[in-house]
Amino acid sequence: MKIHEYQGKELLKQFGMTVPRGIPCFSVDEAVKAAEELSKTLGTKVWVVKAQIHAGGRGKGGGVKVAKSLDEVRQYASQILGMQLITHQTSATGQKVRRLLIEEGADIRQEYYLAVLTDRATQKVAIMASSEGGMDIEEVAHATPEKILKEFIDPLVGVTDQQALHLARGIGVPEASQSDAVQQIKHLYTCYMETDASLAEINPLILEGNGKIKALDAKFNFDPNALFRHPDIVAYRDLDEEDAAEIEASKFDLAYISLDGNIGCLVNGAGLAMATMDTIKLFGAEPANFLDVGGGATTEKVTEAFKIMLKNPAVKGILVNIFGGIMKCDTIANGVVTAARETHLSVPLVVRMKGTNEDLGKQILKDSGLPIISADTMAEAATKIVAAVR
Ligand code: ADP
Ligand code: MG
Repeated sequence: MKIHEYQGKELLKQFGMTVPRGIPCFSVDEAVKAAEELSKTLGTKVWVVKAQIHAGGRGKGGGVKVAKSLDEVRQYASQILGMQLITHQTSATGQKVRRLLIEEGADIRQEYYLAVLTDRATQKVAIMASSEGGMDIEEVAHATPEKILKEFIDPLVGVTDQQALHLARGIGVPEASQSDAVQQIKHLYTCYMETDASLAEINPLILEGNGKIKALDAKFNFDPNALFRHPDIVAYRDLDEEDAAEIEASKFDLAYISLDGNIGCLVNGAGLAMATMDTIKLFGAEPANFLDVGGGATTEKVTEAFKIMLKNPAVKGILVNIFGGIMKCDTIANGVVTAARETHLSVPLVVRMKGTNEDLGKQILKDSGLPIISADTMAEAATKIVAAVR
């Protein structure tokens, strides 16, 4: 699960990190009021108007503007609020801006990169830092990998002073600010661990004119399996930023992820679902979604799954691939028939079933009189659906 920058900064602050002061807003008037409030309480004369969407690269896309007067705050807030912000992390059509963060302008001397993340290769938590802040870190990793420093953390020990200092020195934090940087790194690590995050990324972490180290941006990903422990983080969820089909699917306990292709897939088991998508690709087409109906799929669940897939106008055919273990093939076959009838299915449907009550399932499909194409192997199923959508 992702959250907005201003929410991320609230969390960082709770864990002792230094962040600029800012106020989230939902309208232009609120934005101007927020700017007035910051200048009254802090004497702020330079404000930053920041689009809040669940994607980075907002600055380059025109979603972050420095305002030098209240008039400019109003002007930028009206420009940014409601715009379709397109960045390298959004889809081609961009994301609509519904929230703003009005923040005090920082006196930036240097921009660094700092992140805590789960490193799958070493199966450890890693802290990554770079002197190349404010840039796209993937680009840095590609062009100048030597500019990225990593420390792997022993969970029983946590970040040691030595590790944090090695990072701070390595990215060029001046001596006088290194102890501050060490503290900030430790706070970020604690925040990451305590919130069950899978990514906590500060890009940029800055050195200010007064020598202070501050988090100027905040990006978090949280492990969805741990969210039950964090009602405060769940409360940050912004459904406007999430895929409508994925939200709908989660209501029915279906694991669904939208993709760009045109073949809808309905599969039981995450591994089989991945293999099904690979097979579709192998035969030259692209899946429209990942969908795991789970072990206990009912007729109702299968029907909902069909409805969700068919809401996507890009879907030109559906491939059902079921292994009947605990879930019996006849149950799925009944579900598929009901769903096909209820949704007045008008795209080709290929069904492959293996396992418990396979023959019974196949008979149900045949007796339904629906134009269901059956297949025996994965390769046959993929070949048939790819041919049918062409
Ligand atoms: P994104 O990564 O989505 O582009 P950032 O929050 O990193 O958004 O902002 C982009 C750039 O804008 C930063 O690298 C920084 O140079 C500038 N910036 C952001 N917030 C402030 C601020 N409060 N004061 C001054 N400059 C800022
Ligand atoms: Mg950033």
